[in-house]
Amino acid sequence: MHEHEALYIDGAWVRPAGGATLAVISPDTEERIGTVPLAGESEVDSAVAAAGRALRSAEWGGLTPEARAGLLMAFAEELGKNVAQRAELTTIQNGMPITVATAAEGAGPVGILQYYAALGAAPAEERRPRLDGQGVTVVRKEPAGVVALVVPWNFPQVLTMFKLAPALAAGCTVVLKPSPETTLDALELAATAERAGLPAGVLNVISGGADIGEYLVTHPGVRKVAFTGSTPVGRKIGEACGRLLRPVTLELGGKSAAIVLDDADLAATVQGLATASLLNNGQTCYLSTRILAPRSRHDEVVAALSGLASALTVGDPLDPGTHIGPLVSDKQRRRVEEYVAVGRESGATLAAGGGRPDRDRGWYVQPTVFGGVDNGSRIAREEIFGPVLTVIPYGDVDEAVSIANDSDYGLGGTIWTSDVEKGLDVARRVETGSVGVNFYDLDLGAPFGGVKASGVGRELGPEGLAAYQQLKSVYLGQEIPA
Ligand code: NAD
Repeated sequence: MHEHEALYIDGAWVRPAGGATLAVISPDTEERIGTVPLAGESEVDSAVAAAGRALRSAEWGGLTPEARAGLLMAFAEELGKNVAQRAELTTIQNGMPITVATAAEGAGPVGILQYYAALGAAPAEERRPRLDGQGVTVVRKEPAGVVALVVPWNFPQVLTMFKLAPALAAGCTVVLKPSPETTLDALELAATAERAGLPAGVLNVISGGADIGEYLVTHPGVRKVAFTGSTPVGRKIGEACGRLLRPVTLELGGKSAAIVLDDADLAATVQGLATASLLNNGQTCYLSTRILAPRSRHDEVVAALSGLASALTVGDPLDPGTHIGPLVSDKQRRRVEEYVAVGRESGATLAAGGGRPDRDRGWYVQPTVFGGVDNGSRIAREEIFGPVLTVIPYGDVDEAVSIANDSDYGLGGTIWTSDVEKGLDVARRVETGSVGVNFYDLDLGAPFGGVKASGVGRELGPEGLAAYQQLKSVYLGQEIPA
């Protein structure tokens, strides 16, 4: 049992005054596996105040970039020691297959933190000769301030680290609010930071749902907000930050397209789509869930994907042989099943799955494939967030690009072809924040984010660090003596 009574605020474990708690439920067994405390507004106030003090403290705010980088490397080293334990925490809370969790949630944060520690060690000041010749200007990269991080449950640790690592590397301090479904891993992150010697108040972890999230992102002590989650909540947070003139990064939903070109090797394509379209039980924002197939090869693509769907092992997410685990919650399964019903009524052909696997408990659904889908139908337009693929026929490449771009979203996408140049050419025409050719995997060194309803701003790469830096120009009407 994972029983917790305290949140991590100002370098100490604090029991929330209100005494409210939340049960943590296993998506595999539907049984309680732990309890976490719920923050009230007073805990948010304390966390934001602690982060504000740490920002100005000698122990953090007074550090040189190199000294700060040293602390981050120590934090990364400590995170390297509990990879297996942290991976398991994600799996038992959200049903992510353990092999995915070990690589992404366990090891992933270590590499991200090391990457940003190195980037953050660079000098924060640059001297530029003035364009008018009257001396120099010192351009400073200062920390944006206290940052509020609000993250979802699907990749809780990686998505936290996409924000936490650049925020800390920039010298910011942080209040993290995880999703109610995945609080255990956030508490373990705090414990790891404490063991690594991160100064008090630099990382604070609170808990709670929408109300506490809203209170945090609109708190007067917060200077920047970074959010990953659904588009409707992102809009709300974006509106609030707009009113407050508070910078905000929004990583939101997706409905990305896989364009299968007529020269694609179908066996390799389907093998690639097993990850690019179904990773984490279909609960990944950038997945290529609209499969665009040439009309002449449509039936072949549907048959191959149906073969894949029935070959995948659905079961206990802690078993390393499992490909598809349960969905995160009963609510999420009901949502996915409603979309399957909508798909059946839409005139599309249900080619595989559509029901529940033969298990007596757990929030499982079978991997599901619809063929002959119209891009105007709800199962092609709305984010389902489960293992449900829609195959949409197209005539020529121009039509494929136009269908891919006919979406409210623009987050990921893939092109499948035996001609890489042709793939790159099509990739250039897709309106999206990232796209893969015969492959899709995020690159820590390159920006990731969405266009249209998929979000505002970018994470990862040097661009991800810039989002946590405030620029200041100091004009000197003279040269600085060397
Ligand atoms: P969600 O939007 O329901 O919740 C996300 C977080 O926001 C949670 O911590 C929640 O408690 C909090 N929250 C809810 N309402 C709030 C409010 N009014 N103010 C402040 N905080 C609030 O999303 P979810 O169901 O947890 O996650 C799934 C969604 O996340 C999907 O739409 C998925 O596409 C998206 N996602 C996007 C990315 C990306 O990088 N673009 C990555 C992963 C997931």
